[in-house]
Amino acid sequence: MWRPLDMKTSIATVTISGDLSKKLTAIAKAGFDGIELFERDLIAFDGPPVQLGEMVRGHGLRIDLLQSERNFGGLPEPLKRRAFARIERKFDLMQEVGTELLLVSSCTNEASLGGIDRLAGDFRELADRAAQRGIRVGFEAMSWANYLSDYRDAWEVVRRVDHPSLGLVLDSIHILGKRISPESIRGIPGDRIFHVQVADAPLIEMDLEYWSRHYRSMPGEGDLALVDFMRAVAATGYAGPVSLEILNERFHNGLPRSIAEDGYRSLLHLMDQVRRTEPSIKVELPEMPPKTRVDGIEFVEFAADAKQVGILESVLEALGFKPMARHIHKDVVLWRQGGINILVNTEAKSFAHSAYTMHGTSVCDIAMLVEDARLSGKRAQGLGANPFSQPRGEGELDIPAIRGVSGSVLHFVDRKSELKGIWETDFRELEHSDRDLFGAGLTRIDHVAQVMNYGEMLTWTLFYTSIFEMTKTPMVDSVDPSGMVYSRAIQSSDGGVRLVLNGAETHRTFAGRFVADSAGSSVQHLAFSSNDIFATAASLAERRFELLPIPEDYYLDLAARFDIDPILLTKLRSANILYDEDTDGCFYQLYSRPYGEGFFFEIVQRCGGYDGYGAPNAPYRLAAQKHLSRIERRSHYRTER
Ligand code: MG
Ligand code: MG
Repeated sequence: MWRPLDMKTSIATVTISGDLSKKLTAIAKAGFDGIELFERDLIAFDGPPVQLGEMVRGHGLRIDLLQSERNFGGLPEPLKRRAFARIERKFDLMQEVGTELLLVSSCTNEASLGGIDRLAGDFRELADRAAQRGIRVGFEAMSWANYLSDYRDAWEVVRRVDHPSLGLVLDSIHILGKRISPESIRGIPGDRIFHVQVADAPLIEMDLEYWSRHYRSMPGEGDLALVDFMRAVAATGYAGPVSLEILNERFHNGLPRSIAEDGYRSLLHLMDQVRRTEPSIKVELPEMPPKTRVDGIEFVEFAADAKQVGILESVLEALGFKPMARHIHKDVVLWRQGGINILVNTEAKSFAHSAYTMHGTSVCDIAMLVEDARLSGKRAQGLGANPFSQPRGEGELDIPAIRGVSGSVLHFVDRKSELKGIWETDFRELEHSDRDLFGAGLTRIDHVAQVMNYGEMLTWTLFYTSIFEMTKTPMVDSVDPSGMVYSRAIQSSDGGVRLVLNGAETHRTFAGRFVADSAGSSVQHLAFSSNDIFATAASLAERRFELLPIPEDYYLDLAARFDIDPILLTKLRSANILYDEDTDGCFYQLYSRPYGEGFFFEIVQRCGGYDGYGAPNAPYRLAAQKHLSRIERRSHYRTER
């Protein structure tokens, strides 16, 4: 699937969980060239180091370095003598296992006296000893070390020692996490940098050691300016490995294969951005089209069972949708209202049917309206996405598609190719007597909310932002009383497409239970826009659409939070509409009751430049949903008996 990069890629074994041989298989398969070996891999390995080295090379991988020594530099005697003896022992192991670079991080021993001169003296001796064994030493400044926590000081040590066996190791987490500009990296000769590690992380104020141990993520999944960092590194002419050293125990819930694939995709995406923002830097990468603009969501497709589909249809009807057309070959019906296209797929023996078997009635497919559908498909595949296709009947369009992260499907539609005729070509209009009947005033899809495990949330973030011109909002944690739910939006610059990702850490949360009940990540709610939410609410009431009842407490709280007009407050209360405002504008939202495993619809109205999702209302919405599903579970239990 992957084409090789000329850039050497590497990954620390600690990034992936499990047994070493499984890790190596996943790493090699994803396309990496090498690994960073941790000393504890050596200790845990059941056999001599020579054999471990052979196993790594048997997977077609190099051992780029041994991690790590953190108890060297600036130590008084006898600690200094012991540190040298310990490192000589590591040199023995390195020769056995077959690696020639040792990573030495700044000393974390409190006895270290520090000082650039003293460190330079120690490293000069170490470089001499290493040279005798054909070994090199890379010095890394750790942001939370007592002494020497800035790469510029580490470079000063390396520069003063001026020895071919001593070089610098740069790690983005220790530079960007400390808010140090990476710009002065450009002044370092590329051959003095022995190794480069990249990790991303969310920008949150926190103890640096804790943060760097628990919050690292793949490049592109967090908030760090990694493109600036890698541009500066690439500008030096550095030609060594670019390596992922990601410490984050949440990754350990993920499959080794998907973590390794994410990692490789993240490096490819990172270097593609470097190449495009600074074309003078030569990065040998496979050709791929640039990110594409997304203009909207062309359709959302539900998988349903022919016997059960009536429930979904009656909800769509109550929302003001009408069946408009039927697929020329398949049991797929197009429901439409305003600019919203909903497909209902009851085809047996299809991808949708297997999605139904897995998840029940659920969203199985989303089609993005992009500038150029073929190019989008190509870019996605260039980044390692799996193409998706299914048998086509005569005269049916070939719509480019890929597999989403959890086996869902993402189609690409555009207005520049024959795909612009999708509704005329692939569908036949149904007969209607009431075609002009007014809907409920829903105009477009405001957002699609997907829930998943936290680890997968990082995967999806990377997936969407590497393929499309979309940006991510900072991650916020929300408030489900049963545990943490992390949330972030991935959106296009004009807000035309908004995807909300919710990551649950525990199955006790409403979102987490949905992940568990629906067998994996999936779309939990669809939000439609209305230009007049009160008129929409009135229309829904006529159609007996079942709303989520909002408790009175909410409105008392609302009156306390905002200077809200009492007439407006009464209108909100009687229609179960929630309200939020910020300096840019205001926001109205209303919810359906949850269906089945917890799927629900939302209707929103945005006023002014309001760009959020009503986060302050989330606790009330969650409480109301939990309350309702408790009642329903109880009554279900009673009728079962
Ligand atoms: Mg590091
Ligand atoms: Mg929402």
